Order: sequence, then C-alpha cells, then structure tokens
Amino acid sequence: MNKDDILTQLEDIVGKDFATNRSEDLYIYSQDPGASLPRKVDFVVMPSSTEEVQKIVRIANQERIPIVSMGGGLTLSGLIIPVKGGIILDMKRMNRIIEINQFSQYALIEAGVTTGQILSHLNENYPHLQPPIPDAPPSATVAGNTLIHGSGYLSQRYGGHGSMINGLEVVLANGEVCKLGSCALSDYWFDRGPIPDFIGLFTSAFGTMGVITKLSVQLFPKPKMRDIIFGLLNDPKDIPDLLLKITATGYAEDILLGMQDKPEWMKGYVFVMTYITGDSEEDIDRQSKVLKRIYRKTNARFMNAPEKMKNLYLDKPIFAAGAADFRKGGGFEYVGAFMPLEKIPDAYEKGAEVARKYGISPTLGSRLIGGVHTIVMFFSYSFNRANALDMENARSALHETNQLALDLGGIPWKAELEGQKLILNQIDPSYTKLMKTIRTALDPNGIMNPGNWEVD
Ligand SMILES: Cc1cc2nc3c(=O)[nH]c(=O)nc-3n(C[C@H](O)[C@H](O)[C@H](O)COP(=O)(O)OP(=O)(O)OC[C@H]3O[C@@H](n4cnc5c(N)ncnc54)[C@H](O)[C@@H]3O)c2cc1C
Repeated sequence: MNKDDILTQLEDIVGKDFATNRSEDLYIYSQDPGASLPRKVDFVVMPSSTEEVQKIVRIANQERIPIVSMGGGLTLSGLIIPVKGGIILDMKRMNRIIEINQFSQYALIEAGVTTGQILSHLNENYPHLQPPIPDAPPSATVAGNTLIHGSGYLSQRYGGHGSMINGLEVVLANGEVCKLGSCALSDYWFDRGPIPDFIGLFTSAFGTMGVITKLSVQLFPKPKMRDIIFGLLNDPKDIPDLLLKITATGYAEDILLGMQDKPEWMKGYVFVMTYITGDSEEDIDRQSKVLKRIYRKTNARFMNAPEKMKNLYLDKPIFAAGAADFRKGGGFEYVGAFMPLEKIPDAYEKGAEVARKYGISPTLGSRLIGGVHTIVMFFSYSFNRANALDMENARSALHETNQLALDLGGIPWKAELEGQKLILNQIDPSYTKLMKTIRTALDPNGIMNPGNWEVD
C-alpha cells in the first residue's frame, strides 16, 4: 500500500481530523523537550477507543509500519521519537476516567488520562483520596508515568508507581486485546492477582510489547495535614546514615535530597526535605521534634524555611519548570538512575564532576522509593536549545552519567537509546535472550517501537 492509501485507511478508522501525514503536523512529534536529535515521523493518529487502536495496529502489522505509543511525550529521553519512522499513536483522546473504586481504592482509566486530570477529578469528587503522580507537568499521563516506573510524593511510603499498577488492557501486535491482572477473571481491577504476573513485561518496555489502552492504578487515603522538615547536610557521606534513621521512624511520606551550585547559598550543601503527614498540629509537632533530633545527631542542620518556600514544595506536583530551565534556553534532560543507597555519596561527588567537566552547573537530586530499597538519583542538565555546543555538551554529559550510574552498581531509568545500549552491553546475556524470545513471539514483524531495547 502506498502512503496515501495508508492515510486514507487511518482516516477511515479515526476520522479525518485525527490522522495526518502533513509535515506541519508531524514537526512537533519529531522531537521532545530533551537533548535527543529530531527523527522522522510518517503519520500521527489519535484513536478514541480500544477498537480503533486494534484496527490501526492490524494495518500497521500487515504493512509492517512501526508504531510508537505516546502519552504526554514528556519523558525527555527521546522515548516517543520514532527510531525507524512510522505511526505515532497519540493517546490523548482516550481520556475517560471509567471508575473510581473507593473501597479497593483504585482508578480504572484510559491510557490518555493525564496526571492533572486524575488529580483534579479526585480533588473535586473524592477529596479523601489521592493519586500517585510525578513532579512532571500535569499533561503527563498516568499510563506513561506508571509504565516507565516513575515516582512521586507517595513513593517513599507506598513504592514506585510501576508497582501501583493493578491491571492492564493491552492491544498486542496482532491486534488482539488482552487483559492482565485480576480484571482477567473478575469485574474488579483490584490486584495483579495470584496468577502468573505478565504486567511487568509491559513496564519499562517503552511500548515495545504492545499498546496499553486501559489501566487500573492504586489510590491512597489523603492525610489531613502535610508538612516538610528542611535540613542541610555538609557532607554527602552522611546521607545513608541520615536516611536510615529517618525511614526507621516510619514518619516520612516522601524524602527529597538536592545539591546544586546555584543559587550561591546552596553551594556545598545537601538540601534535605522530609515530608510528614498527620491528623492534627500535635501529630505534626511530635514527628517534627523527632526528625529535628535525628537531623542534629547526623550532622544535618535544621532549616527554618520561609512559608513561601514551604508552600512551593507542598504543592503537588511541585512547579518544577523554573528549576528545569536554568539556562533559559528551553532545554532540560536528566539521567535518572535507580541506585543502591550506599553508593549515593559517590553519585553526588562524581555526578558533580561530570557536570563541571562539560561546563554545566551541577544540579543533583534524589528521592527514596519504598523505604531505603531504592533511591532514584537525578543528574540534571539544562541547556539552551538554540546553542548547538550547549546541546552537544548535555548529550556527552548524559552519556557519561549513564556509564557512571552503571559503574556505581545503579541502573539508568527511562534510558535514551545510547543508555539502553550501555545497559544491554552489560546485562546478563540470558536476559537479552529471553527478551528476544518474548518479543519475537509477541511481535514477529517488529512493529512495536522498534529500535528501543533492540536485541539482535
Ligand atoms: C519538569 C519535569 C519533571 C519531572 N518530574 C518527574 C518526577 O518527579 N517523577 C517521574 O517519575 N518523572 C518525572 N518526569 C519525567 C516524565 O515527565 C514523567 O515520568 C511522565 O509522567 C511521563 O509520562 P508521559 O505521559 O509524558 O509519557 P510518554 O513520554 O508519552 O511515554 C513514556 C513511555 O511510555 C510509553 N507509552 C506511553 N503510553 C503508552 C501506551 N498507552 N502504551 C504503551 N506504551 C506507552 C511510550 O512509548 C514511552 O516509551 C519529569 C519530567 C519533567 C519535564
């Protein structure tokens, strides 16, 4: 089939307004806000139902056209820019909130529902419940974020967002629909179920295993009050000890750390923010006293933060746009890496060295996920998009940081193509063999986001 015939078929499925191959429409989809170079896109299609996704996938499979599923397109690491051209399946129209279950506490939603949408829906209709959301802009989707194992303000207490998926509805490369989790045999999407768990095949897979059309994500009770205990550490070497002591209290809902050279007063310090929750002022006071004592005993100074600063960080999602655009050039990307706690001091020290080497002001951060079992480390690089050298420096720094994370025993998160290659080079060969077997069985024509997690 030629390109015009394919477009006509796609238009027949979704309507003329929701399928395009016009260059002015494709332009914005050929790039993302990160440091990746633009790549070619052939079509953009916006389905409104699972049935439409099935029909699109069947055409793509028959014609061997790559399909890249896209939520908000905000991962920054180029994951939604096609590697081999093809169709971008923009899921924004599939934005129905199907059910909020208040008893088993989950939301059953379509894959295009954004984090801002679920947050405002719950605030308005179920103010006692809160969703797991990242500190990303509110146009990020719940599906995109959970599927890449994102994290946010509930992650210290309840774990990473990928582990909060109860169930998925998936369209496979052959166009068949498959339900995973308790929903495969029950009307309730309440759990992954004591059955073989295939949901993990679709997380951190970057759309290479199928298209997710619906998902159930866990919700959590909203506390009456929330506060932050700020602290400053002189030496990153004290981080593991401090975090072990804080987490042992069981008080922290979220723990965020940061180290940056700008503004000047922050230079040389590790900034610590422990979020606590409670039912009353007394409750908050009691926890805050315990945490201040812990800070003191671990060489951390308690910092009485101004109300304005506190409110900025209490707002969810945190308004991070300013922090992401230090260079005022509209470019921002970071290596996120899942790290073992004991390697965090090295990650801060060596991460700052990489940034300085490329003329970038070090901006490092981390967040604990589920106790101290994982800590996600952010090595951020902001750059001016209009300056080619600035972008090249950011790309080099990102690449070197991926290797640094691996050398320290960590694993780059939502890795861009170069990072994926580093991971695949180092991973146990039996892992890649299994991946290839599964992918070939599910997608023999290789249409699902080919080029990502590419195994020969
Ligand atoms: C300023 C800023 C702050 C951020 N802070 C955080 C943070 O605190 N925590 C955090 O976790 N992240 C953060 N991020 C990273 C990122 O924006 C989020 O994780 C975001 O939620 C990703 O969602 P998305 O809808 O943009 O996903 P997309 O980029 O659209 O997609 C992500 C991946 O999932 C795949 N995918 C998407 N939808 C589907 C589908 N329906 N079926 C199959 N595959 C699919 C895509 O192909 C891609 O590989 C931040 C980003 C920015 C710009």
